[in-house]
Amino acid sequence: MQGQMMSMPLLTSSLLVHAERHHGDREIVSRRVEGDLHRMTYRDLAARSRRLAKALGRLGVHSPDRVATLAWNGHRHMELYYAVSGMGAVLHTINPRLHADQVVYIADHAEDQVLFFDLTFLPLVEAVASRVKTVRAFVAMTDRAHLPASKIPGLLCYEDLLDAESDHFDWPSFPEESAATLCYTSGTTGHPKGVLYSHRSTLLHTFAAALPDALNCSAADTILPVVPMFHVNAWGLPYVACMVGAKLVFPGPGLDGASLYDLFEAEGVTLSAGVPTVWQGLLGHVGNKGLKFSTMRRTIIGGSACPPAMIRAFELDHGVHVIHAWGMTELSPLGTVCSFKAQHAQWPVEQRLALQSKQGRAIFGVDMKVIDGEGRELPADSLVSGDLLVRGHWVVSRYFREEGKGPLMDGWFPTGDVARIDADGYMQITDRSKDVIKSGGEWIGSIDLENVAMAHPAVAMAACIAAKHPKWDERPLLVVSLKPGATLTKQELLAFYEGKIAKWWTPDDVIFVEEIPLGATGKMLKHKLRERFRDHVLP
Ligand code: ADP
Repeated sequence: MQGQMMSMPLLTSSLLVHAERHHGDREIVSRRVEGDLHRMTYRDLAARSRRLAKALGRLGVHSPDRVATLAWNGHRHMELYYAVSGMGAVLHTINPRLHADQVVYIADHAEDQVLFFDLTFLPLVEAVASRVKTVRAFVAMTDRAHLPASKIPGLLCYEDLLDAESDHFDWPSFPEESAATLCYTSGTTGHPKGVLYSHRSTLLHTFAAALPDALNCSAADTILPVVPMFHVNAWGLPYVACMVGAKLVFPGPGLDGASLYDLFEAEGVTLSAGVPTVWQGLLGHVGNKGLKFSTMRRTIIGGSACPPAMIRAFELDHGVHVIHAWGMTELSPLGTVCSFKAQHAQWPVEQRLALQSKQGRAIFGVDMKVIDGEGRELPADSLVSGDLLVRGHWVVSRYFREEGKGPLMDGWFPTGDVARIDADGYMQITDRSKDVIKSGGEWIGSIDLENVAMAHPAVAMAACIAAKHPKWDERPLLVVSLKPGATLTKQELLAFYEGKIAKWWTPDDVIFVEEIPLGATGKMLKHKLRERFRDHVLP
C-alpha cells in the first residue's frame, strides 16, 4: 500500500521559493570585488535568480549543461547557485586558486558550456579562454561601468544579461535525482575527480546540516561563510541559509583577519565557518589588537583537523563555541560534527575541550565504520585506528565520467582517512592513509604530533611527515614555521612534547621553514614536503 501524502520533488529551487515567501525581507550583504558593500534581500535574490535563469536560457543553456564559475562568496555567485540548478542545468564551481592547467583540465572534463567569473580572475580566464574546449560564452560578474577591456572575444556582462530579462519565470519541475551541482576534489592526494550532487542529495544534506547538533542554524542567525562557495558548496551554507531564513554576509575577496573582523562586527555575525588556516589569521588579528567579538557565538571549523590550541583560544578567550566538523567533497561535505551529548554538560571544561578536538559523531543520513587491514569492523572504543568508511544519502557512489567499478567497497565509500571511534560514537581522524607514519610496524598519527607543536606559542604551523629510517622504516619528522618575530630551538620544541604523547612518538627531528606550502583550499601540502625532504638524514 502506498502512502497518501503529497509527493513533491526535492529541488533546490524550492529553498529559494521558501526564502522569498517566508523570509523575503531578510538581508544578504556582500563585500564585492568592485569595492562596495552591497545589500539586498531574499526577495531580490529570488527575482534576480529568475532573471538569470531566463538569461541562461537565452544563452542556449539547457538541462543538463554545465555552467562554470570562478568566483568569491557573493550575491551574484548565490544567484548562480539557484538559477543554474533551478533551471535544470548543473553548476560547476571551479576553485580559482588552481593552476591554469588544472582549470583547463577540469573545465574540459566537465564539458562546461558557459563560464562566469569575478573580475579578480580576469587574468586567469584570459589565460585559459583559448584553451578550454567546450566553453561557448564568458560572462564577467559585474556591471557595464566596471567591465574591463579584455582580449576575450564577445565577453558578456552579468548585469546586462539580467537587465535584459523580466523576473517572470516558473522554476521547472523535474526528478529530484537530477544533477544540481558539480565539484571536483581539490586533488591534494591525486588527480581532481568530479562529484556530481543531485537535487535530492543536496536537499537532504541541507535538512541535516541545519539541525541543532549539526551546524545549528536558525532564522535568528547571521551567517558569514568564509569557506568558499567554490569549495564543496561552502559546506552547504548557501542552501541552509535559505532553508532557515538566516541573514547572510558574504566576504568576497577580503579573507584576512582585519577584513573579516570588521565585517563580523559591522553586520552582527553570529555564526561563521572556515578551515583552520583562515581562523589563524583572524585570531592573530584580534589577539594583536586586543579585540573582542561582540556578536559571534559559534564557528564551524573543518577541512583539516582543528588544533586544540585554536579551540581553546576561541572558547576560553573569546566565548566563541567551536563546532568541529569533518567531511569531504565526496560527502557534500558533511559527515560528522562534534556536538555534545547530554552527559557532557557535567564534564569539566578541560575534558569538554579535549572532546571537541575529535571530529565528532555521525549525523543522521551518514553512517560510518572503521575497519582493520583485513576488512573487519573494529569495535567502538578500539585503541587502534583503521580505515574509515561511510555510506549515506549524500555520499558519492561514482565519480563523474569515470568508467569502471567505482570507488565503493561493498556499498561503503572508503574515505582514505584513518580514524578511531570512541565508546560514545565520537570519531577522531588520526591521519590520512597517505600521511600515516609507519614506524616499526606501528602507526603514528601525524595529526596528534602536529597538534602538540601547534600548541606552542612560537609555532605558526606544523606538519609532520614520515622520514626514512634504517631501523624503523619511517620516523616522524616535524616541519615547522614560526610566528613572526618568534624564536624557538629544536631542543625546546622537542622538550615541549614530554608528557604529552607516548615517548616513542616524539619526532626524531625538526626542520624550521619560512612557510609551509598550502593547497588551493588552505590545507597543508604534505606531499610537497615529503618530496622536498625525501633525502633528509635523521640524527
Ligand atoms: P581533498 O580530499 O582533495 O583535500 P576535501 O576538501 O574533500 O578535498 O578534503 C577532505 C579531507 O579533508 C578529508 O578526507 C580529511 O582528510 C580532511 N578533513 C576534513 N575535515 C577534517 C577535520 N575536521 N579533521 C581532520 N581532517 C579533516
